[in-house]
Amino acid sequence: MDCLFCKIIAGEIPSNKVYEDEKILCFKDIAPQAEVHALVIPKEHICCANAIASDNSAVVAYIFEKIPEIAKKLGVTDYRIINNCGEGAGQTVKHLHFHILSGANLSEKLV
Ligand code: 5GP
Ligand code: ZN
Repeated sequence: MDCLFCKIIAGEIPSNKVYEDEKILCFKDIAPQAEVHALVIPKEHICCANAIASDNSAVVAYIFEKIPEIAKKLGVTDYRIINNCGEGAGQTVKHLHFHILSGANLSEKLV
């Protein structure tokens, strides 16, 4: 499958890893939009939030269970979690990911 994040999971493309276990991976965004900018992804390929269903939602819950631990590793307690679903919403990589943004340079909030 020609998926950038699946290639990062497979180690075919290097990444700056923050956290990894058998189900999920967190790595630093290559083009940070804030002082702290990491991406959390499931290792299972899920294209986007529209593809979350009862048979794959456990890993999404798991991501959110792990985010506090990941935030600690990133050295932050206050942060914003963003998911873009679909090109119209700005999704450029079609593998479900949650942006974690924090620190200086965090732009004005949208919502
Ligand atoms: P999206 O725009 O789909 O919500 O977010 C995709 C994110 O992936 C962007 O913030 C972009 O900077 C990041 N990104 C794209 N290619 C790479 C890469 O090769 N490595 C890393 N670490 N991040 C990437
Ligand atoms: Zn993928």
